[in-house]
Amino acid sequence: MNEQAAPMPEFALRLVKWQRQYGRHGLPWQTREPYLVWLSEIMLQQTQVATVLDYYPRFVATFPDVQALAAADEDEILGLWQGLGYYSRARNLHKAAKQVVTEFAGRFPRSRIELQTLCGVGRSTAAAIAAFCFDARETILDGNVKRVLCRLLVLDGDIANKKFEEKLWCTAEALLPQDAADMPAYIQGLMDLGATVCKRSKPVCCVCPMNDMCLARAQDRIAELPRKKTAVMVKNLSLYWLVLRNRDGAVFLHKRPAKGIWGGLWCVPCVDSLAALYELAAQFGLAAEDLNEGAEISHRLTHRHLFMVPFTAQAGGQPIESTAVAGEWVSPDNLAAYGIPKPLHDYLNAVQSSLF
Ligand code: SF4
Repeated sequence: MNEQAAPMPEFALRLVKWQRQYGRHGLPWQTREPYLVWLSEIMLQQTQVATVLDYYPRFVATFPDVQALAAADEDEILGLWQGLGYYSRARNLHKAAKQVVTEFAGRFPRSRIELQTLCGVGRSTAAAIAAFCFDARETILDGNVKRVLCRLLVLDGDIANKKFEEKLWCTAEALLPQDAADMPAYIQGLMDLGATVCKRSKPVCCVCPMNDMCLARAQDRIAELPRKKTAVMVKNLSLYWLVLRNRDGAVFLHKRPAKGIWGGLWCVPCVDSLAALYELAAQFGLAAEDLNEGAEISHRLTHRHLFMVPFTAQAGGQPIESTAVAGEWVSPDNLAAYGIPKPLHDYLNAVQSSLF
């Protein structure tokens, strides 16, 4: 492949035809309504289609349009997002909805460039919205598309490298269909081909519409492309939870700072050493012997492996003073209204009968 990517009209023609016949149809976000497309694109970042299919209808039922989302309480949004992970996506969703309402009079902008001014919307997401909803001749370039391009054209470079990524953008742009009306099927085709045929391992080349033009296949280099990124170091992190309940059976939660693990979510007081835990407990009038140590819980994030040890404390005769850490006592019936980290949510559910 030359530095300057040459147009290859055959690729777009085949992909559009293939998508219409064999691609994925009937997904709830396959519409021309930018609010619904944007929502799905944000949810689908780092999340499987099957999981999004579970969350998406509830989200849309609660926030049917951008106005409803902009006017929502952040905690309600985080509550519905609970379990999807990468919570900054939910917070950006809220900010972007407010931007659409205040900066664009409640209507999504049509151009990729303007869409990119919305919080949490990068070039690829903006291109998908512009192409699906407004037939804009803009290309996406997510991990799946990078893989297809690297194989199809034997582009051998480090996909984490900025210069190589720029080359991929140029290549992807050169492949766009000439007819703007083909854009929705083309972009969906790119997504479908990467997700269902040109998969990371065991691509199904026999049903691939590009199999006779694929250079990696011809050169027997599929397994080595795209070149693997250097493995990310996963760090272990130990955390200690102070799980307090008061005389009414409510649990003490506080809202975590926006930055860091579980940013903006409601959590029990959480520290990273036993000494800090005892110090924290003392602020609630509790001594070490008042605390009951529970079984360790492990939870894997992308770059971290968390190990949490819950320490519970009963209120006894007197209600525990909650003045030391700003937070709220939340009754078990109200927990669903709070955005709570997935492992804490699972833990509270599991111990509900014994704890409350
Ligand atoms: S022929 Fe195989 S490796 Fe090449 S693009 Fe198609 S699925 Fe991917």
